[in-house]
Amino acid sequence: MAGTGEGGLQSEVAKAKRIVVQWASARFGVDAKILDRGLAIVIKIGQGAKPGIGGHLPAVKVTEPISMVRRIPPHKDAISPAPHHDIYSIEDLGQRIEALKELTGKPVFVKVAATNYSQYIATGVARMGGDGIILDGAGAGTGAAPIIVRDNLSMPIELAVASVDRLLRKEGLREGFTIIAGGRVSNPEDAAKLMALGADCVSVGTAALIALGCIMCHKCHLGYCPALITDRASSNPLRTLSLDWAVERLVNFIKGWGEELKLIIGALGLSRVKDLVGKRDLLEAYNMWDETASILVVKLISSCSLPLVTGEGGYYSERRRMHLKALAEKGIPLIGSMGSCSPPFVESPKAVCDYLISDGAQVTRPSIDPYREEI
Ligand code: SF4
Repeated sequence: MAGTGEGGLQSEVAKAKRIVVQWASARFGVDAKILDRGLAIVIKIGQGAKPGIGGHLPAVKVTEPISMVRRIPPHKDAISPAPHHDIYSIEDLGQRIEALKELTGKPVFVKVAATNYSQYIATGVARMGGDGIILDGAGAGTGAAPIIVRDNLSMPIELAVASVDRLLRKEGLREGFTIIAGGRVSNPEDAAKLMALGADCVSVGTAALIALGCIMCHKCHLGYCPALITDRASSNPLRTLSLDWAVERLVNFIKGWGEELKLIIGALGLSRVKDLVGKRDLLEAYNMWDETASILVVKLISSCSLPLVTGEGGYYSERRRMHLKALAEKGIPLIGSMGSCSPPFVESPKAVCDYLISDGAQVTRPSIDPYREEI
């Protein structure tokens, strides 16, 4: 299935049968008719690339077609507030879930950024009648996210999935509740690991964009995408992505993904992808901190004795590189942070600033929206 994102529903996309419609803070172009078009509704509270903050589509990208879809004035900045202005508590969220279900009769999912409170948010969503949670981990896309936020907030998706699955089971809420994991899910191996940790399925954003030709230059918000994917909608045919080419590549990517996942399932002696969900006993951890392994509840084969960060560029220190090379030469699959190029941010708070950073990431207590509220 494909998600519409928060930008209303384009008429061509509306013809697709397998879409989920997003209900985000700015409610761009959303009405009852559009909500009814999808197989499900997603209430977007947060996203992994920028937990706790809103969005800003610059005027240059609000072209005529975008203004039509979003139902906003053309050539003017479009602001998505950080919070939903009618959701400030889990009870408020419960009311919205109920209202959307009553309106459409469709399942309702809630999308949040992966933080150290994800498990409590997930149990709240389950208790309030949500059909599932979409957890978006650190390293998730959105080239437009402020760099300081993108690189310092949120946490790796595998930690959130493991914690959410564990608490939901403990509270007896897991049955019939779906966990969807996203945030740097780069290949079927990542998907299989996340499912073994407790996810029912995964969502893919950046990897699909790369299949379409994205070179990850993180300039999506400027309107001059070199791969023509997030370019300004333009009437110049020389500046338009070839749809046939893009579709062919995306189809190849998805088919390849499916084939590889089938191989993984077969190699594990399972018959269905579903059977992999929550099978943590199939996972082994190499070169991992004890604390991380205890959150993931996986068998720790070799503990990480190397300092995780040793100053600038420390994560990829020569010593660490040699260690990883030795593991790879022994044929041991390397477990990183789901293909992440940044270290996991799971150290205990040491200074007041750390508490502030972690507080800033909490999606149920969104930061003040500087566009609409006084600080
Ligand atoms: S190539 Fe385009 S879509 Fe990819 S990061 Fe750059 S601007 Fe964004």
